[in-house]
Amino acid sequence: MVNISILGSTGSIGRNTLEIVQSHSHRFGVAGMAAGRNFELFCQQVRRFSPKIVSLQRKEDADRFGQVCGLRDIQIVFGSEGTEQVARFPESDIVVSSITGIDGLKPTLAAVESGKKVALANKESMVVAGSLIQAEMTKSGAEIIPVDSEHSGIFQCLAKENTSDVKKVILTASGGPFFNTTAEEMRNKSVREALNHPRWKMGAKVTIDSATLMNKGLELIEARWLFNLKPEQLAVLIHPQSIVHSLVEMRDGSVLAQLSQTDMKIPIQYALTYPERLDSSLPYLDLARTPSLEFYEVDSVKFPLIALARDALTRGESFSVALNAANEVAVEAFLEEAIPFHAISEIVTQALINHRDENVRTVDHIFEIDRETRKRTRDLLERT
Ligand code: MG
Repeated sequence: MVNISILGSTGSIGRNTLEIVQSHSHRFGVAGMAAGRNFELFCQQVRRFSPKIVSLQRKEDADRFGQVCGLRDIQIVFGSEGTEQVARFPESDIVVSSITGIDGLKPTLAAVESGKKVALANKESMVVAGSLIQAEMTKSGAEIIPVDSEHSGIFQCLAKENTSDVKKVILTASGGPFFNTTAEEMRNKSVREALNHPRWKMGAKVTIDSATLMNKGLELIEARWLFNLKPEQLAVLIHPQSIVHSLVEMRDGSVLAQLSQTDMKIPIQYALTYPERLDSSLPYLDLARTPSLEFYEVDSVKFPLIALARDALTRGESFSVALNAANEVAVEAFLEEAIPFHAISEIVTQALINHRDENVRTVDHIFEIDRETRKRTRDLLERT
């Protein structure tokens, strides 16, 4: 039995993970679960999967959780400290790190420091702390298996290859809901329109990031650290069908690709079973019935955040931290309908104009840059 801890169990990745656990219950058990404020769903999940340790965001929720849900013999903790306890829980073999945004950093680091196998869905932790996480992995012997579909594709292509033979890694992007929209029409798209992703069903933050292509920008930075790639080895192609998740060009001219149905259960399950594979509960890919596979260049004038993320690949690490922070604040403001769609990229760009590059030394340093940038971004929001 492989014991799993899930950080962010009520989110989209967490719910998919639990479905996989359920369909392979002879193989997987749940040791720990952490969630935010979705008390009702969390209670149902905990009753169903009987973990030994659970964490909620708020103390008041943790205090009433055992009684309300009728649970005994369970360790109930709370807050960011509690999430980290779940991440370190000795009885779990794999930690699924699927909390969104920089909030996922400390729990991811806790799992890495404890030498766990980490199924990483929280791309932001790699974006803001790639070099720190790499250093901790070397110390603890932890292993990271990416859950992000593009990175899972790269990981699968490279499973039997020498990284030194890689010429280029190409991440595909669906293009999001506004791929066929003109820049002018895109300016004032509503929250509902931006959340209407044509291919993937995901959480709100990542769906908005897909509409601005910031998601692909963050994924470029994530890939840099996950696979130790140089900026010139990283490229993006728009692929509206989202069947090819990434391509790896080798030095001999061969191009490897990973194709699958557009469903996060496939990369999640691979991360849980690697290096083995198990049957899928989804319909298998039928290429004869698949529409043609198209690939296009990215329009970085229409999607300026991708250009900004490319800059981050060559600049000091603090630039990635600031980019992520400014983007989180701007996306939140858009989701609250405080700013129009086009303002997301404008605000993020402005927030980074006078950024002074530094290398990040510690987690505290990362949070210091994060806090400063959030403040600067909020000040900009107030002035718009
Ligand atoms: Mg992705």
